[in-house]
Amino acid sequence: MPIDEHLAFDTTSVELHLHWLTLRYGIEVRLLIADLRSRYGDQKGDRIRLSRYISSDAQAIDTLRHEYAHAVAELKHRSKAGHGRLWRRLATEMGARPRSCGQGPLLAVPLLEPACTACGHKHTPIARRSRRARCRACRSSRLDWRPVVTTRFS
Ligand SMILES: [Zn+2]
Ligand SMILES: [Zn+2]
Repeated sequence: MPIDEHLAFDTTSVELHLHWLTLRYGIEVRLLIADLRSRYGDQKGDRIRLSRYISSDAQAIDTLRHEYAHAVAELKHRSKAGHGRLWRRLATEMGARPRSCGQGPLLAVPLLEPACTACGHKHTPIARRSRRARCRACRSSRLDWRPVVTTRFS
């Protein structure tokens, strides 16, 4: 798994946890970090994707367990019943909160904090860069868009 310096969670602990799950359930999966902005993760066959916008280790592990429970239900028990009884039992057993995949907002869609290079004014962080944005203090368009998410790998 390639290391991305903007991830807010530790991929090493996610991989260790996956290793432990694999030993326990015997289902091998491929783990990818993907540009998922509207959900924490997903699963298709033996491929599990985690959103690169997950904001904490706890959220990453919970998402991994959630998706791994889908993989075990599908590949070991031939069940594609979504968040049905089998999945809920597996997810609970793995320690995931047994709730359906998030369509809700991610905890940390990457926020940008525009700082004005003309007057130094700092603005409230926002999710997306805007080309027409101007400094609230001096109306300059010279904004420096810095990511708010702190880096773990450097
Ligand atoms: Zn799910
Ligand atoms: Zn300014």
